[in-house]
Amino acid sequence: MAPHIHYTKLFINNEWVDSKSGKTFDTYNPHDGSVIAKVSEGDKEDIDLAVAAAKKAFARNSEWRLMDPSERGKILYRFADLVEKEANYLAQLESYNNGMVLHMNTMLMTGAPDEIRYTASLADKIEGNTIPSDGDTFCYTLKQPVGVCGLILPWNVPILMFLKKVTTALAAGCTTVVKPAEQTPLTALYLASLLQKAGVPPGVVNVVNGYGETAGVALTHHPDVAKISFTGSLEVGKLIQQAAGANNLKRITLELGGKSPLVIMNDADLAAAIPYAAFGVFTHQGQICIAASRLYVQSGIYDQFVKGAVEMAKNYKIGNPFDADTQHGPQIDEGMMKKVLGYIEKGKQEGAKLLVGGKQSGSKGYYIEPTVFADVQDDMTIAKEEIFGPVQSILKFETLEEVIDRANATNYGLAAGIFTTNVNTAAIQFSKNVEAGIVWVNTYMKMCTQAPFGGFKESGIGREGGQRCVDEYLEVKTVTMAVPKKISN
Ligand code: NAD
Ligand code: MN
Repeated sequence: MAPHIHYTKLFINNEWVDSKSGKTFDTYNPHDGSVIAKVSEGDKEDIDLAVAAAKKAFARNSEWRLMDPSERGKILYRFADLVEKEANYLAQLESYNNGMVLHMNTMLMTGAPDEIRYTASLADKIEGNTIPSDGDTFCYTLKQPVGVCGLILPWNVPILMFLKKVTTALAAGCTTVVKPAEQTPLTALYLASLLQKAGVPPGVVNVVNGYGETAGVALTHHPDVAKISFTGSLEVGKLIQQAAGANNLKRITLELGGKSPLVIMNDADLAAAIPYAAFGVFTHQGQICIAASRLYVQSGIYDQFVKGAVEMAKNYKIGNPFDADTQHGPQIDEGMMKKVLGYIEKGKQEGAKLLVGGKQSGSKGYYIEPTVFADVQDDMTIAKEEIFGPVQSILKFETLEEVIDRANATNYGLAAGIFTTNVNTAAIQFSKNVEAGIVWVNTYMKMCTQAPFGGFKESGIGREGGQRCVDEYLEVKTVTMAVPKKISN
């Protein structure tokens, strides 16, 4: 029961077009590696056309620029309704293309329309300030859309990333060129069709499928693109910042993953902590930027905890993402499967204790068994690098102060968590001192629509979500007028 594929071309200026070169590329189902569809392959020429459309749509007297802010919001509310109506289809399309377990995707899609509505509600609340300036002046600020935005998406949660970036850019009044990950082009195209239905004028949203090294590079180097928002690897994040610096000093928002520590104190409620620790690292086969990939367990409960963790991992039901009882699906592609298996080998070589899993599961598709390593040391590769796979690394610690230092001894700083019943002290001290953009106490991966999301250190730049999310797509303009304080009659 494969979902029907409606769109495989590029979406430029509200039209479906072939790529200029006429080239296409295959997109796959990670469950068995079969080809789902041939998709138009965009390149520099197509990016140029899309950026030109977005630039025209952003021109001073365009329909989009003259539109009332509340009307922009209404378009997004209509879009939310359409996404709500099509939520099941979208979940299926995504699971078919990226291997996320369908019931989890369905759950994510249940929350998605309200996330859009939250952002829609900001469209007419973009306010400047009146400034109490010194001297004979009247001073105020305007917040204005930054311009054409290049939005580069990852393959792990493509729908949510599309929604977050596109709806925020539109609420701010920007126009956009979206470059989906080459592994997962299909949902972005479908969402673009829904935005058109919702009333987005031509050129405001464009989608160009293609590879990072071609279409992605063209977008990040384009002189008419004012801003890039990117979610993906640290390596590419750094290239994007370089491109911005070498070129027209584009504004950038980067979300670059992590090596997030989850700390379990001796006094933790283990009945909650053990399943959460598994959930934190095995969800979506570990392909989540906030994965709890360093699990620090205090010495008093270490052995008991490790036993519990092994039980959890053993009992994951591996299978087709479309089966109702499946808990664990495939990795996105062969390359990622091999990369993760390579990390597992490294873990073994460097002396971590492999307790469960560690192998490819089955012979078709890209499945890896949920894997648990105990007695991991901070300097081992599996404790340092983002694995992006179903690998739990358990490390032992003695004191809170020690674990805070060890948790912070990483170039990343996206998320962190602590399980403790000492909420008065340990939880507060940990939350205050851990270097991470998101901290969970006695829970993990709980996402909150109204809250900002983003990382410290090399996990990124800027924040998505929350009331201030639109600021990432706005410039502040200070207007100062000569107005004498004293009224002269
Ligand atoms: P990637 O960073 O290469 O790809 C992400 C997006 O960037 C894709 O759309 C890709 O086409 C584009 N891209 C690639 N090279 C580019 C370039 N030079 N210029 C502009 N755009 C470019 O990620 P990947 O290779 O698919 O995965 C590698 C690793 O990245 C994973 O192992 C994981 O650690 C990390 N990752 C993180 C996230 C996250 O949520 N932060 C998501 C996906 C991958
Ligand atoms: Mn890459």
